[in-house]
Amino acid sequence: MTEKFDVIVIGGGPGGYVAAIRAAQLGLNTACIDKFTGKDGKPAPGGTCLNVGCIPSKALLDSSKHFYHLQHDYAAHGISVSDAAIDVPAMIARKDGIVKKLTGGVTQLFKGNKIAYYHGTGKLHAGRQVEVSPVDGSGTVSLEADNVILASGSVSIEIPHVAIDGKYIVDNVGALDFDAVPETLGVIGAGVIGLELGSVWNRLGAKVTLLEALPDFLAVADKDISKQAARVFKKQGLDIRLNTLVKGAEIKDGKVTVTLGDKNGESQLTFDRLLVSVGRKPYTEGLLADDCGVQLTERGRIQVDEQSRTTAAGVWSIGDCVRGPMLAHKASEEGIAVAELIAGKPAHINFDTVPWVVYTDPEIAWVGKTEQELKAVGTEFNTGSFPFAANGRALAGGQGTGLVKMLADAHSDEILGVHIFGANASELISECVVAMEFQGSSEDLARIIHAHPTLSEAIHEAALHVDKRAIHRGN
Ligand code: FAD
Ligand code: AMP
Repeated sequence: MTEKFDVIVIGGGPGGYVAAIRAAQLGLNTACIDKFTGKDGKPAPGGTCLNVGCIPSKALLDSSKHFYHLQHDYAAHGISVSDAAIDVPAMIARKDGIVKKLTGGVTQLFKGNKIAYYHGTGKLHAGRQVEVSPVDGSGTVSLEADNVILASGSVSIEIPHVAIDGKYIVDNVGALDFDAVPETLGVIGAGVIGLELGSVWNRLGAKVTLLEALPDFLAVADKDISKQAARVFKKQGLDIRLNTLVKGAEIKDGKVTVTLGDKNGESQLTFDRLLVSVGRKPYTEGLLADDCGVQLTERGRIQVDEQSRTTAAGVWSIGDCVRGPMLAHKASEEGIAVAELIAGKPAHINFDTVPWVVYTDPEIAWVGKTEQELKAVGTEFNTGSFPFAANGRALAGGQGTGLVKMLADAHSDEILGVHIFGANASELISECVVAMEFQGSSEDLARIIHAHPTLSEAIHEAALHVDKRAIHRGN
């Protein structure tokens, strides 16, 4: 027998589970199929983000930040601690507890919203027929819906001649679960994930070397931010090697030897552990039957239009498996928009105001265009900036590193981009996202009252500095 739904969502990450909840809120009879199984062997909806991505990485970043501050920063406050030690299994158990709480929360939300949750693999056939193969091996289930949303996410990219074994050579999954601090850790790829997970183990005492093929550090960020960040991260102990292409890796006698190509030719480095973080690719394995009508792009992403419609009628796709940045909040917003479109409501996503965050210490966050992007297309702009070293609240908290940089159109003053390197940048950026969403100008932010003393005053001052009238810095 085929069970019928209004909406079937395949994939229960931040794209899929959010889409399912919004569809159910709109009165649509909804099913969500997700195959993720937690470390305890139980169903764990929430996808990469909750299980092996955003949340566990932030849990470890917070634990390791406490440990690092204890050793490096507390003395300045007059606090001395002797024999500080890190219990890695306890830290990992705390992280696992947080993951469990959140994936359990998603299960509860499914129940509360009367969403039928299937712990299994979903395969789309022609006519929006979906076949579910349950993880527990019980017989397949046939479902059918007026609308199907594909939200199958992404997986780590592997590179040739660097085989992940899960112990010595790991991806994000393994690097979130080391049982001890490795003495030396090699990280291939100095992107967002490499920097975050590299920082975790660096703060806990590992000697971390980042091997990056590109000539520029964090090339996606504004160059003033990435330059300053590179200096700060090097001081924290991260050994960042640019122009360094990893060509292969071999595990021998419990160590990993990596073959590198750089300007000096070929060389080798040996580490206790190696993290491969060279990016992620869309995941569609086993998702699409030959007759389903959904086409992939050349790069393996599910092809969609600007409103997330695939090439098959009534089939939509969102999140990491489609175009756009691979970010959880982007996936969730697409999920909400698609549910609303299915329910006949208007919906729209502004991809120009998707915020980006790198959870290093200090954090990096931005929204909109970088200076180099504006220059490349010949847009005339004015720049304002403000260092946290001149912000009272930052100094009081020992957070005087970094800056806010604002770019505004030279003619209309509309804010085109804001770039923050500093404490709580992940939270501070929201004000700038709101301003940009409302097509605000630097003058708008300059005329808004910011509480004193707060880190947000640095945004206020950067906005004032666009017009060269900042108060607490030279103009
Ligand atoms: P996913 O979260 O990947 O979920 C897809 C789900 O679908 C998975 O559970 C998968 O098992 C399931 N699935 C796939 N195929 C099928 C099928 N055929 N049948 C049933 N189920 C299926 N983003 C941020 O915004 N902020 C961060 O701080 C951040 N940190 C990150 C840290 C790390 C280490 C990593 C790896 C990623 C991080 N990301 C972060 C990225 C973020 O995790 C992804 O952008 C987000 O999870 C994408 O959501 P999604 O719903 O598209 O896919
Ligand atoms: P991200 O996509 O943000 O996770 O970043 C991944 C990074 O890995 C990019 O900066 C790539 O340039 C880098 N990268 C990809 N392949 C290699 C390689 N073989 N050796 C070194 N760096 C690489």
